[in-house]
Amino acid sequence: MTKPILRLALQKSGRLAQKSMAILEKAGIDIPEFDRILKIKARNFPLEILLLRTSDIPEVVSDDAADLCILGQNSLMESMHYLELEELRKLKFGRCRLSLAVPVQSPITSAKELNGKIIATSHPVLLQKYLYQHKLSADVLPMSGSVEIAPELGVADAICDLISSGSTLQANNLRELELIFASEAVLIANKTIAAEKQAILEEFLLRIDSVVNASSLKSVIMNAPRSELPAIEKILPGLDSPTITPLAKEGWIAIHSVVEEDEDFWRKMRKLKEAGASGILVMPIERVIY
Ligand code: AMP
Repeated sequence: MTKPILRLALQKSGRLAQKSMAILEKAGIDIPEFDRILKIKARNFPLEILLLRTSDIPEVVSDDAADLCILGQNSLMESMHYLELEELRKLKFGRCRLSLAVPVQSPITSAKELNGKIIATSHPVLLQKYLYQHKLSADVLPMSGSVEIAPELGVADAICDLISSGSTLQANNLRELELIFASEAVLIANKTIAAEKQAILEEFLLRIDSVVNASSLKSVIMNAPRSELPAIEKILPGLDSPTITPLAKEGWIAIHSVVEEDEDFWRKMRKLKEAGASGILVMPIERVIY
C-alpha cells in the first residue's frame, strides 16, 4: 500500500509564491531545489508541492487533486469553488485591501454616489456582494487585469481593486474611496481530506502554526537596574511574565521578554531606554508552540 502524502498547491509565481515557500522551510520542511519542475516532493515530510497558476488553484483543490493550498482570501472568496473549500489558517502575510477608487478629479466622494455608475474590477463576486449588502445598483465591468486604466479609457467611472501600499493607485491618478474587503494569505483545505491523511495534516498544522505564531514576535533581552523592574514590566507584558536573571553587577538584572513587532514596537524600545534599560538585544524567534 502506498504511504499517504499531503498535496499542497502553491502559486508557481506571483506575489505569494516566495513567502509561501519560506513558511514551509521555516517549518523545517526541506524542499529540494527546483527549476521548471511543477511537482516537488519534500525530503523529510510526506508533502508534495504542486506549482500552479493562481487562477487554477481553487479548482485543483476542490477536485481533490490537491488537499491544501495557499491563496489570498480574496481569491478564495472570488472562486466558484468557495463552498467546497475551507479556510484553515490566516498566515499573516500578503495583506492587502480590496477597495473602491475613483479618479482624483472625480466629484464622487462616497460609495453611495456610485449608484448607476460603472465599476471595473477583477473581483466581480466580492464587488457584487458589497453592492447588494449596501443596496447599491451599479454596473460591474469584469476585467482580468489592468483595472486601474479603465476610468482613463472612459469605460468605467470607478474601479474596485487590490491595494497594498497605494502607490499603483497614485501612479494612475486614482483616489481610494472605501475599503470593501481586507485580505491576507490563507491556508485553504479541501473539506473532505481523506481520513488516512489526517495525522499528517495535524503535524503539518502544528508546524505552520509555530512559524506563523512566531512571525511577528521578537525576543528582547536587556540589562537594567533591579529598581526599574516594575516600570519595565509595564512596558513589556511579554508572553507570560519576563524572565529575570541577576547580573554580577550589584543591583542589576537581565530581563528577557517577547515583544510583538507592531507599529508600537519602536515606541516601546524608546520607553525601555528611558526607564533605564541598556544593551537591549532584539532577536528573531523562529517558532512558537503554544
Ligand atoms: P498574483 O495574482 O500572483 O499577483 O497574487 C495576487 C495575490 O497577492 C492577491 O490575490 C492578493 O491576495 C495578494 N496581494 C497582496 N498585495 C497585493 C496587491 N497590492 N495587489 C494585488 N494583489 C496583492
